[in-house]
Amino acid sequence: MSFSSLGLFAPLLHAIQDEGYLAPFPIQTEAIPAVLSGRDVMAAAQTGTGKTASYTLPMLQRLATGPGVRGNHIRALVLTPTRELAVQVFVDIATYGRHLSLTSGVVYGGVKINPQMLKLRRGIDVLVATPGRLLDLYSKNAVKFSQLEILVLDEADRMLDMGFAGDVQKIMALLPRQRQTLLFSATFSEAIRDLSETLLKNPLQIEVDPPNSPAQGVKQWVYEVDKGQKGALLSHLIRTHGWEQVLVFTRTKKGANQLVRLLDDDGIQAAAIHGDKSQGQRNRALLDFKEARVQILVATDLAARGLDIGGLPRVVNVDLPKVSENYIHRIGRTGRAGLEGEGISLVSADEVDLLSAIEGLIRQTLVRHVEPAFVPTFKVPLTRQIKVRPKKPKKPKNRTKAKM
Ligand code: AMP
Repeated sequence: MSFSSLGLFAPLLHAIQDEGYLAPFPIQTEAIPAVLSGRDVMAAAQTGTGKTASYTLPMLQRLATGPGVRGNHIRALVLTPTRELAVQVFVDIATYGRHLSLTSGVVYGGVKINPQMLKLRRGIDVLVATPGRLLDLYSKNAVKFSQLEILVLDEADRMLDMGFAGDVQKIMALLPRQRQTLLFSATFSEAIRDLSETLLKNPLQIEVDPPNSPAQGVKQWVYEVDKGQKGALLSHLIRTHGWEQVLVFTRTKKGANQLVRLLDDDGIQAAAIHGDKSQGQRNRALLDFKEARVQILVATDLAARGLDIGGLPRVVNVDLPKVSENYIHRIGRTGRAGLEGEGISLVSADEVDLLSAIEGLIRQTLVRHVEPAFVPTFKVPLTRQIKVRPKKPKKPKNRTKAKM
């Protein structure tokens, strides 16, 4: 199967060739012809399956013909739950559309609205947006939907999980009924099926097997380590093995911050990316990591959703995820597009059950490695610090004298 046999035209085939894609992924083989034909599509597919190209490529082709966009109007809307995913999709649209003269833009909250309003003035063919900011822009008359031809809901399940159901409904009520709708979701839950029934007309349903094991080229292993020694072991591994670009996962935001401080103290440049960081900080950390100005990026699961870091050599789990499937999502950041990668987990005694759940899910026992040269230190333990308060001196009780 080749991309050209799916009906894509030359400017897109050219861009695909620039990217070095040899053949379409399964979701692309199914979705591209359907979207090109104008049909609604409902696809169960996770990040890493090639889903973004499966809708952006045919969407761009459909938009390449048709009337020009009017001021403040948009012709296609991609709704995403997170800012990171919005930026990622926007970058992919720019990549695949580089030989076309369509315009694209991205809007999300947490940054100033005025520059986004200015960009929308001339109209934009494809707008990628998070729901809240899109509604803000609409309330300021900065975006109009009467020219809208295509709507994409990306990571729809996540959108509902994050409490955007109300915003999504409000947006749907503003869009023309006559349109093409594409819905992508990691799972087809009851709520997603309900949503799709109200939004989609006779959709083609596509289910791509969720990756139930990390990519074949990813070598995985485990270090057993005391909970309080995880940071010191990570720092040791980075130094002794000369690891240059590592995406590290922690379970909590606090844990991420503590780890960054510990690595910084050890002279290793690290940045954290999690929900308490401003959008500017998150963008900067990601860019610094991608451009090798920062060696280590420490992330929580939520912040890492949708992150695509080309050629990432290694992922380290400093904490195992509570939800086993997240192990596959995490490890799936490396070893993409046929490249090799490493997935390493630092496991403490209290995580043994989590580890066996993960091993059950991926149906393999992970190799236990020992790091012979590692000498535990007790510099900055990553465990929750137990505050020992000095005991208050007891007040002498007013005892009545015992009667003799
Ligand atoms: P996605 O699931 O959209 O996040 O895509 C996952 C990764 O696969 C991205 O890095 C894409 O650039 C890459 N990709 C998408 N389609 C193909 C393809 N047909 N061949 C090789 N890589 C691809």
